[in-house]
Formats: sequence, C-alpha cells, structure tokens
Amino acid sequence: MRNHKVYLIGAGPGRADMITVRGLKILQQADVIIHDYLVDKAALEGLKPGAEIISSERYGKKACHGRSGQAQKKINDLMVKMAKAGRHVARLKNGDTSIFSRISEEIEALEKNKIEFEIVPGVTAASAASSFTGVPLTDRRYSSNVVFVTGHENPDKGIKIDWRRIAGMDTIALYMSSGDISDIAWKLIRSGRPETTAVLAVSNAGAVNQKTAIAALGSIADTVQKNAIKAPAIFIIGKTAGLEKRYNWLRKNRRILFTGLSGERFFLKGAYFHLPLIRIEPLEDYSGFDRYLKNIKMFDWIVFSSRFGVEYFFKRLKELGLDARILNNIKIAAIGNCTSERLLDFTISADLVPKKESSKGLIDEFRELDIKAKKIFLPRSDISDKGLEKEFEKLGAKVTSSFAYRNVMAEGLPDLDLNFFNEIMFTSPSGVRNFIKRYGKPPKKIKISCIGDVTKKEAEKAAIQLS
Ligand code: SAH
Repeated sequence: MRNHKVYLIGAGPGRADMITVRGLKILQQADVIIHDYLVDKAALEGLKPGAEIISSERYGKKACHGRSGQAQKKINDLMVKMAKAGRHVARLKNGDTSIFSRISEEIEALEKNKIEFEIVPGVTAASAASSFTGVPLTDRRYSSNVVFVTGHENPDKGIKIDWRRIAGMDTIALYMSSGDISDIAWKLIRSGRPETTAVLAVSNAGAVNQKTAIAALGSIADTVQKNAIKAPAIFIIGKTAGLEKRYNWLRKNRRILFTGLSGERFFLKGAYFHLPLIRIEPLEDYSGFDRYLKNIKMFDWIVFSSRFGVEYFFKRLKELGLDARILNNIKIAAIGNCTSERLLDFTISADLVPKKESSKGLIDEFRELDIKAKKIFLPRSDISDKGLEKEFEKLGAKVTSSFAYRNVMAEGLPDLDLNFFNEIMFTSPSGVRNFIKRYGKPPKKIKISCIGDVTKKEAEKAAIQLS
C-alpha cells in the first residue's frame, strides 16, 4: 500500500484556537490524530467523521518535559505504522513544533521509513505568554534579543547549559522550569544577572485557567510558590517583564467567563474566556427518532427549540436518504435566532419565530393560532423538561416529543480561580447545573448574567446571587 504523508503540526499552547488556519485545515482531513497531552481537547472537535484520536498519554508521555525516551519511541513507531497502513496522519504537538518538542526524533523515524512529511508551525508558549500578558519579548528601548531556554537539560547530550551566556541575554524565555525555578534563578544571579531583574511567570498561558505573577529574580521562587504557579509554566525574565503592570490588558479589562456553547463574539467589551460546560453528543440509538422521521408527513408542525435539534434532525434525514422536500406541507417553528438561522442553513425559513426567545414566548404566539388536534413534533435533548409539551397539550395539540441528541457535562473541566473573573455568563439551565456540580456556587462579588428565562430560573433555584 502507498505510504501517506505525515503532518507534524504545532497546536499552539493553552487554547484550541491558537492553531494556525493551515494546521486546522490539515487536521480536518486527517484519519488519525496523535496528539500531545497538553493539546487543548477542544482542538479535536469538528474532525472528519470516524477520525481516530490517540493521545500520547496512552504511551506514558505526559511529563511537561517529555523525558521518556521509551514513550517517544512508541509514538514514532505508531506514526510510521499508521502512515504505512495508508492513513492520513496528523501528529499534533503542543506549542511550536521546533521548540523543545523532540521533533528531530520524529523526523528521523519518518525519514528512515521513507515517509513523506511536512511541518506546520505553531505559536510557542513564550509568544502566547507574551501576548496574554501584554509583555513584549523584545523592545526597542530595552531588549534586542531573546533566548528560549529549557530548565531541563538533556543528560545524554554531554553539554551543560551555559548559564553565564544565558544570563547576559536581554530577554530570557524559560521553559520547563516551574519545579526548579529557585535553583535556576540562583544560577542566573550567580552568573551576574541582578537580583532586581523583573520576572514574569505565566502558567497555562492563553487558557481559561491562566495564572500570572510578577516578581524580582531574587524572590521569584517564593512568589511562584505563594501563587501556586504550576506546570505548564513559562518565565519571561528581563526588562520587558517590568512592563506587565502597564501593558497587561487581561488584568485591566473586564474578564468574563462564558459558559455557553455558541461561538465567541469578538469586539465586545471585556476579555471573554470560553468554557463550555455542556457537550452535545449523538444518541446511541436513533431507531425511535428515525421512525418519526420516516413518518414525518403525519405532523402539522415541527418545533425546534435549539440549533442542535435542527442539526441532528437534518443529519438523520440525510442518513435515512430522505429529501428536505418531504417537509413541504409541514409548518416549522423555531425558538431563538440561533435556531432559526441554523434552519436557514438548510434553506428552511421558519414559519414562526417568537419575538421573545423562550418557550413561554413560543406558547404565547401559538395561543393566537388554532392548534387544536394539530400534531406537533418536538425534536429535543435527552434532558429537556416536559414544560413545553404540557403547554402545547393545554392548547389541545397532540405532541410527540423525541430525543434527537444528548446534552452531557463537559469533560476535563480545569480547576479555576473564580475570583479572577468579573462576570460569569450562563446560557442554559444545564450549564448552571454543571457549573455548580464542578465549581460550587460562584463567589458573591462576581456578576452573574443569564441568557433566557429558563436559565435565570435555574440559577435562582440554585440560589445563585443574580445581579
Ligand atoms: N513546543 C512547545 C514546548 C513544549 S515543552 C512550545 O513551543 O511551546 C513544554 C513546556 O512548554 C512547558 O514545560 C512550559 O514551559 C511550556 N508551555 C507549554 N504550554 C504552556 C502554556 N500554556 N503556558 C505556559 N507554558 C507552557
């Protein structure tokens, strides 16, 4: 079988959208994605159906400094094996591919096996730490050079880091050093760097749980400990770090934790951190739902209460080999702009979209119509309540509700310092419930905003202080 090409791609650090446009396009065409454990899992959504996702953790390569040669070898072998089997392989690495990423070992394995490869750059942790704190790595006034250095030397290499030379650089970006910062700071001081040199420590740069601390070189170790700055962390050492106070836009701007699923809106006031608390998943068994689709002509109305209902409805329709024209005599209602716009993507212009984006708004408008004995189909999530169904029944309609998708709690939600945020936004009752389950009640001083009445009600029920 013909070998396929392997792409070695930098995923960037911290958050899913740090990957380059090119990297993302390649990922979407890959059959197999072998990713580093530090890669944000959200980067692995929207892949080709059936794409296989393999974490390097499975091979024991987890340490931030990736010392395990054994694990690296297994990853190399896997990459080669998959490519030889004719699969399109994307090897997704944290940050940039060329910086402390052992890419040479992967290239050599591919080379040896005559497998064609390409490399796609990524944002390195130092760049992300710089951008997300406002601290430039170079500056015309203070710094004309920057060095990327690891705190973890390779013991087999036989060369030791020349800290005297490093100490003389204008800006030092120190990787893989959170555990040894006390020792390294001391080495730099001993090599002639003043104790008063500014140091910026950033952990989880770019992520929702990013933490920063600033100190002088002489006291950075204490500061790191006090602020519990843990790996993955990077240190920017030098005069530019002193600009943090004035340039850190993240500290200055209002910080909003947005817990909904919808895409981020840029150009709003404030810095938004996207932390979806729910995940939408297909049902395991669509036989019940499909039966209704095959007989969809029997309904007078289809009421979509979310865009996911729309997506899964049309996905199943397509899967069953049915054509949207089957809906030609059926009226369609949608709650919310998001839902009606998603319908438009399937060229369906809803007959009814209530002015008020809620179940109540929808029922108010249906009350004006005569829906006695009308048959209504409600594609829904597996956790939605029976409220809407009951209201329709009160109006004399015959309602058939069927699960179209599952709404589950997001996995791997990171530990958060909630006090970092000024505001938390909820967009669904399940979001509120999942938040409480994972983080407890938010501190009182944080403003809470809810989109929609049902969400607000759920927040009130959970006794969250609403502002
Ligand atoms: N190739 C990566 C570096 C891999 S080595 C890159 O270009 O960024 C792993 C080290 O990178 C960690 O120990 C830490 O120093 C740094 N790192 C990775 N992700 C980070 C993040 N989100 N925030 C801060 N440092 C990070």
